[in-house]
Amino acid sequence: MTVLTSVSGFPRIGQNRELKKAIEGFWKGTVSLDEMRGVARSLRVRHWQLQASAGIDLIPSNDFSYYDQVLDTALLLNAVPKRYRDLGFDDYEETLFAMARGYQGERGDVTALPMKKWFTTNYHYLVPELEPGADIRLAGTKPFDYYLEAKSIGIQTKPVLIGPYTFLKLARTPDAAEVEPTAELVGRLADAYGEALEKFADLGADWVQLDEPFLVLDKEPGDIALFESLYNRILPRRDGTGLKVLLNTYFGHVADVYTSLTALGFDGLGLDLNEGREENLAAVSEFGAPESLTLFAGVVNGRNIWRNDYAESIGLVEALQQVNGNVAVATASSLLHVPFSAEGEDGLDPSVLKHFAFAVEKLTELRDIADLVELDDGEKAANAVLAANQALFDGTRVAADADVAARIAALDDADFVRRPARAERQRLQREALGLPLLPTTTIGSFPQTKEVRAERAKLRKGEITRAEYDDFIRGQIDDVVKKQEEIGLDVLVHGEFERNDMVEYFGQHLNGFLFTKNAWVQSYGTRCVKPPIVWGDVSRAEPITVDWSSYAQSRTDHVMKGMLTGPVTILNWSWPREDITHEEQTKQLALAIRDEVLDLEKAGIRVIQIDEAALREKLPLRRSDWHKKYLDWAVPAFRLVHSAVQPTTQIHTHMCYSEFNDIIRDIDAMDADVISFEASRGDLVVLDAIHDANFETEAGPGVYDIHSPRVPSEEEIEGRIGEILAKMDVTKVWINPDCGLKTRGNEETWASLENLVAATKAVRAKL
Ligand code: GLN
Ligand code: ZN
Repeated sequence: MTVLTSVSGFPRIGQNRELKKAIEGFWKGTVSLDEMRGVARSLRVRHWQLQASAGIDLIPSNDFSYYDQVLDTALLLNAVPKRYRDLGFDDYEETLFAMARGYQGERGDVTALPMKKWFTTNYHYLVPELEPGADIRLAGTKPFDYYLEAKSIGIQTKPVLIGPYTFLKLARTPDAAEVEPTAELVGRLADAYGEALEKFADLGADWVQLDEPFLVLDKEPGDIALFESLYNRILPRRDGTGLKVLLNTYFGHVADVYTSLTALGFDGLGLDLNEGREENLAAVSEFGAPESLTLFAGVVNGRNIWRNDYAESIGLVEALQQVNGNVAVATASSLLHVPFSAEGEDGLDPSVLKHFAFAVEKLTELRDIADLVELDDGEKAANAVLAANQALFDGTRVAADADVAARIAALDDADFVRRPARAERQRLQREALGLPLLPTTTIGSFPQTKEVRAERAKLRKGEITRAEYDDFIRGQIDDVVKKQEEIGLDVLVHGEFERNDMVEYFGQHLNGFLFTKNAWVQSYGTRCVKPPIVWGDVSRAEPITVDWSSYAQSRTDHVMKGMLTGPVTILNWSWPREDITHEEQTKQLALAIRDEVLDLEKAGIRVIQIDEAALREKLPLRRSDWHKKYLDWAVPAFRLVHSAVQPTTQIHTHMCYSEFNDIIRDIDAMDADVISFEASRGDLVVLDAIHDANFETEAGPGVYDIHSPRVPSEEEIEGRIGEILAKMDVTKVWINPDCGLKTRGNEETWASLENLVAATKAVRAKL
């Protein structure tokens, strides 16, 4: 029996980000709607053809989106809030973009839907909004159009939809509350999906894939019953049509619902054998699988860039085959989260490049594994493809750095503890730094104007010398220091003009990192990121920020805050190694940043901020894993970074998003002196958590949203400070905006900060 190969989803942005360019051109008015559609169509065709020629059996369609597949699902299901419908656009894309980015113009003025991280990835989805009594029904044609589009070029695809359970779980009411799954809503939703299955059967589809990643999360009471009631109503609609339904799960295991899933009568079940390996395998071997069910073995990792270890994958497929004869070889998740192709990365040595598999290379891996599984032992032993793959994993890929190993081996418990205790430090720092109550500061960056980016491009192209560039940056620092003094901020920053990015910039000064030219991954909408690769052991190659921070400090008598990225965030926004643990890599990074912290202190920097913007992002999906799989080493790694500084040196940290009520004690245990966080788009419930947990760290919840050019008034900010002071002890409060000023223009930034300082002074006067 031949083993099927299946891809869950393919990157849509294009090998050279063609889709990004077309869409952004459309937004600017330089590309017409038809031209944008033409680019999108040619990308879809190219991606289908690539998969077909790689020998993929089940090629996805409807994984394409102009912005986000969750938002597409909302439109498909008619979950378009009235304010967007009232704009009265005829074209799908226009409504989609209005919901994704907001709209301001002759048709009206609406803000965008909120955006959240897609599970533990750095991809963001738009949160669907279900108005009370929403008329949920199958309203769109996009999945059917794309299915037919592929068919018209002779390619049979497997349409992919986000399933109704995940959709309901991700959706929110207009007040941002979870959606109550009333019988009526569940019925409407199930009917919409049932109708979609009938339609696909009519059009001639063999398989439909329904993605239900929300199944890998902990279940609340009623969740399993909800899932069952949805699918008990949906699945009968395909009976007798010949259409097969693949229930696809990823980013974790479904052991806790496995028997419910196999009892429901799906034709395929997609299991993630990377992130959910042990539990999924145990469930399959304990409970078996009905003969009518094909198990989709998710062995090709959709979230890394490393070559697949074929012997290991074959072992996994064979383990499933022992239980059930029907096993397909699949990607563990969509390939959306990996770069397009390693082709063209000629800056990397072939001896390095051969270890990488991006999306296109992963197609070949799927085919290889499926072919190899069918060989008997003798044939496998003689197989050249398998031998070549094995050679990649034989021996050590990269020599260990003995110095790094020795440093780590020499660490003891005391290296993870800062002395004296925080309360004592906070008292000493108050005296040493001489700051007023409610000290004002910013999170680090200031607007990266066109001019700044142009100078960096000139340096890269060799049009200016390093000395000229450094002069330019010094000029920027001079200006930003002066302006901060003028408007009366208390703790100043140097502005981060020298950085392209908060991870790559650090990686460039560390041993062990590699960089690509074109390995872009979609983050949200048309925004892409290009994470660096952790290739070997990490150590600091040279001081990173010391010159810039000391220069900035030399320009002012105010306290200048040093600005670093923390080890957990650097790892989370890079491609980590797979031959050593994340814990080990984070420890290496922590030592490198620790060196930088101590050098900054030596250079006279008395306040140092270590950003852990992405710490919350990689929190495991299941609560039982939070500590043992993550926080138990991530939090100590942060402590290792700062444990050796003087009591009077003040350590700040920063986190994006304020969704950390559940881990508030762990955040306190990072033992920073001060934390700032992005709060102004949240509802400030985190303040209750801070209050209830007796949070010791001084804190600066962002007092205004920097994601819009709007300038908040002094009164508005005063009101905001009032809300904060109602919940927090005034001696622990810092006043700062949200993070990311680098994405704003100068005009609104300075006007807003002036109001922030004025509001703070007004509040102080009343204390
Ligand atoms: N220091 C950075 C800034 O101010 C932090 C960025 C972030 O939080 N992602 O922009
Ligand atoms: Zn942030």
